[in-house]
Amino acid sequence: MDLLTRANVGGTQENTNQPPALENYDVFGRDPVLQGAMSENGAAWAQPHLDELGRRAGSPEAIAWGFEANRFPPELRAFDRFGTRIDEVSYHPSYHRLMQVAIGNGLHSSAWSSARKGAHVARAAGFFVWSQVEAGHGCPISMTHAAVPVLRRQPELARLWEPLIFARTYDGRLRLASQKGSAIFGMAMTEKQGGSDVRTNTTKAVPSGSGGPGSEYALSGHKWFCSAPMSDAFLVLAQAPGGLSCFLVPRVLPNGERNVFALQRLKDKLGNRSNASSEVEFEGTSGWLVGEEGRGIATIVEMVNFTRLDCALGAASGMRQALVQAIHHARHRTAFGKLLAEQPLMQNVLADLALESEAATLLCLRLARACDQAPDDPHEAAIKRIGTALAKFWICKRAAVHAGEALECLGGNGFVEESIMPRLFRESPLNSIWEGSGNVNALDVLRAMRKEPDVLDAFFAETARATGANEHFDASVEHLESVLRSSEVEESQARGLAEEMAVVLGAAIVVQQSPAAVSDAFCRSRLAGEWGRTFGTLPADVDMPAILERAFPA
Ligand SMILES: Cc1cc2nc3c(=O)[nH]c(=O)nc-3n(C[C@H](O)[C@H](O)[C@H](O)COP(=O)(O)OP(=O)(O)OC[C@H]3O[C@@H](n4cnc5c(N)ncnc54)[C@H](O)[C@@H]3O)c2cc1C
Repeated sequence: MDLLTRANVGGTQENTNQPPALENYDVFGRDPVLQGAMSENGAAWAQPHLDELGRRAGSPEAIAWGFEANRFPPELRAFDRFGTRIDEVSYHPSYHRLMQVAIGNGLHSSAWSSARKGAHVARAAGFFVWSQVEAGHGCPISMTHAAVPVLRRQPELARLWEPLIFARTYDGRLRLASQKGSAIFGMAMTEKQGGSDVRTNTTKAVPSGSGGPGSEYALSGHKWFCSAPMSDAFLVLAQAPGGLSCFLVPRVLPNGERNVFALQRLKDKLGNRSNASSEVEFEGTSGWLVGEEGRGIATIVEMVNFTRLDCALGAASGMRQALVQAIHHARHRTAFGKLLAEQPLMQNVLADLALESEAATLLCLRLARACDQAPDDPHEAAIKRIGTALAKFWICKRAAVHAGEALECLGGNGFVEESIMPRLFRESPLNSIWEGSGNVNALDVLRAMRKEPDVLDAFFAETARATGANEHFDASVEHLESVLRSSEVEESQARGLAEEMAVVLGAAIVVQQSPAAVSDAFCRSRLAGEWGRTFGTLPADVDMPAILERAFPA
């Protein structure tokens, strides 16, 4: 064996039938579903901005940031080299670049800072596009976005913090936010003894002076999960003399000293590895009361609801990225003499994944419109209330199954890190867990219907807009209405109901906004029972090539 032959054995053989990397593509420009949803929901004006962000998201540079931010996860630096507590987390530079782009594009605040109609929709579309590059850094972006309406309940705190949140610059260091000129937010509710049931919180808050809204308290206790601990401030739940209350806890105090924020360790997580999730202890930690004492849950719930919609958006964004990777692979890989994308059974799998992704995208953007219009429109407020719980439950649940199936479309390559599919798969169960796990959201659907009967009328008013166009849809609405109007749903049945309502609500939007090939296949499979138990079981006469061309124009 001569030298050259031995070198060939080492990996320079002819390499055929391996798809090119999916890069240098326009994440937004090649997503007609998202483009259509933006226009339908009143944010067509944001198209040029999204075009730019979409090209950035598909660039090799941004894709590499996503990989590096996960390959080199954040590290806790509890002490400096002299043994002084510093409670810092250091991130890979790629994480900071992802944050810079997200913040530079206003994904953390533009829904509130922009005066344009459709600002929530435009921001949701941006979040959807950019999260496809990397999901972990979306956590602080989302929490910052969601903190704004809560801060507004305490005007003097809002006056101080809002301009810092609205700034489009990012500085990941621990410094006084007013010196940096910008701020990002986190939240800390979950404790060891309870996350869903935050009423069990034991962290105590003692007034430093006379107490009351906007005034300073000293917090002592712990938080079992506190993500993005390098954020500038957190909304924290703690027990004040008047009961569970919401506090703004900055990492650096107004006098420039560091607040007590003792990071114990970072979680070693299944996915979401670019994002640090810490355990933290408070001891005499300064916090400022937001809202009334004893109204902590009612105060922070607004933040929770906006992050819940972002969970659904994040899940839909993950589905979209998994889908385009799967379609791209199938269009370039040959097996048994034909491209995978031309194999009838692979077309069925991909088209089925595309239907799921389309419905998830449309529902999220519709709900973003509800966020835009809720302040002036009771119907939209009711749709936002019930739709957020439904979307959080259903879309987040579907993401994990969807990711597993999309991964398989790449065969063995899909199991390898460089393909991005393992990262999407590991990420996929998370959105269903945090901000209220599956059961908690399903129960929230029941709670909404019991406590706010208007939401049910709004739900059926919304579905009525789509009736008359598809017989399966009409029959499903009729069935749901007869169930819901005739008897109280038992708690043990909450998931079944949430599932059915979420699919019908999604279908209502699909029927109104999607082409016939998509809406027909969606309603036949998801509503009329012409479907199996795995993706890829659509009826034979569904127009699969049309669905795939719409999903990701070649
Ligand atoms: C990566 C990551 C980051 C996080 N970051 C943060 C953060 O920054 N800030 C923060 O505050 N929290 C954070 N969390 C915590 C998260 O919000 C909680 O884990 C979640 O709310 C669930 O709470 P728990 O873990 O205490 O589980 P539990 O509340 O014990 O729930 C366990 C299971 O029981 C179910 N369940 C609960 N109540 C009922 C019921 N009444 N009926 C039926 N089933 C029920 C739940 O659905 C769940 O499946 C994070 C979690 C993760 C995984």
